[in-house]
Amino acid sequence: MHEIAIRMTKRNHNAFVHLLGALESQGFEIGELLITKDLNEILKAKPRAVLYSFFTEEIWEVEKEVKILKETFNPLLVAGGYHATAMPKHTLNVLGFDIAVIGEGEEVVYQLLTALKQTNFKFKITKNLLSIRGLAFYLNGEFTFTGFARVEDFWRFPPYPEGLRLIAPIEISRGCPFGCHYCQTPYIKGLRMRHRPIDQIVKYSRRMRDMRYITPNAFAYGSPGAMLKLNKLEALLRALQPLRKDGRRLYYGTFPSEVRPEFVLPETLELLLDYADNRRLAIGAQSGDDAMLKAMHRLHRVEHVKRAVEYMLEYGIEPVVDFIVGLPNESRESQRKSIELMKWIMSKGGKVRAHYFMPLPGTPWARCKPSPLSEEMKRFLGRMAAKGKIEGSWGNQILLSKRLQRLIEEFYEEPMSYVGGINKAC
Ligand code: SF4
Repeated sequence: MHEIAIRMTKRNHNAFVHLLGALESQGFEIGELLITKDLNEILKAKPRAVLYSFFTEEIWEVEKEVKILKETFNPLLVAGGYHATAMPKHTLNVLGFDIAVIGEGEEVVYQLLTALKQTNFKFKITKNLLSIRGLAFYLNGEFTFTGFARVEDFWRFPPYPEGLRLIAPIEISRGCPFGCHYCQTPYIKGLRMRHRPIDQIVKYSRRMRDMRYITPNAFAYGSPGAMLKLNKLEALLRALQPLRKDGRRLYYGTFPSEVRPEFVLPETLELLLDYADNRRLAIGAQSGDDAMLKAMHRLHRVEHVKRAVEYMLEYGIEPVVDFIVGLPNESRESQRKSIELMKWIMSKGGKVRAHYFMPLPGTPWARCKPSPLSEEMKRFLGRMAAKGKIEGSWGNQILLSKRLQRLIEEFYEEPMSYVGGINKAC
């Protein structure tokens, strides 16, 4: 009989694979866990506790599942991930979870599961949990927060468990110093970029046929984050070459990661051509207006995006460029500048992906309102999408963005953060 279940989904797969690696490496018997993407299996097994991890965009689905679980066998429900960290009270009071994990989960989940098992498998919230940093729960009716869980040296934990046939792209770097106002990464993973050592990346890449990596900025490998450390980057890519020669393919700076535009330089592109298999690179432009880039704290300008696109084309690499439309306080003129930049990228042979601004809890722009799209922008995106020239699901995101706004308006709470207080920026 399984006492604990892990509710895997497509979106939390990578996070749970890494977490299972961390649990196993600390001595937790992961064979005891029911790990499944099928809710019915959990309903059949009736474990004492179920672990979830999810983003704010998923809460409406999660809420429905929680209701079903509560009504059928009422297990102890534990939530981790970005939403639980940014809105723990909402996670407990509204979604119906019993415990929210706040921050980076590797150690706290191990300690939590161990403590729960020690209560004679009763899986109850007791004052024993007070000594575990990184939890929020109600104890005797009082909201209790035990502190933000930080894992500076995340590479102490392997990227996946040895004992299970589960695999996911390897997280090679964590944290980001840029602090873009719409992004959760720096506020939940920290502003200092840390890196998994090269020998570990090589060791764990052996299990992958297509070697893919998770990092906020693939070309910043080895650096504190805001600068290029070419020798470190080259050392990593060179160390992976024996694995390529064995028939594996190396994808770097493309799905599921990307690079910042100012890091796209002849020297980084030469490394890519020499050492990697992808011939496309994803970069974030976000806006064609320098004033908007400044407002969102991107810390690069439009000229960096143009320069990156030109370098990529010169080196035969297809640029895939992300934009956010409907940014807070974005004027029609700003939108026109984004249209101009998108047109310019497409005319050069690059691809554009458009996203609508979504206010995310735990970010400086959580309470900022998206701007409506100008008629010109709507027509442009519609036309380009019909021709297959622009990808992205800004249409659905407009609706989702409205739901997020309503959620944050109704349930706003000061977020727990890696970096202390978050300055509101609009
Ligand atoms: S959007 Fe990218 S560069 Fe900006 S803070 Fe997030 S991870 Fe860092």
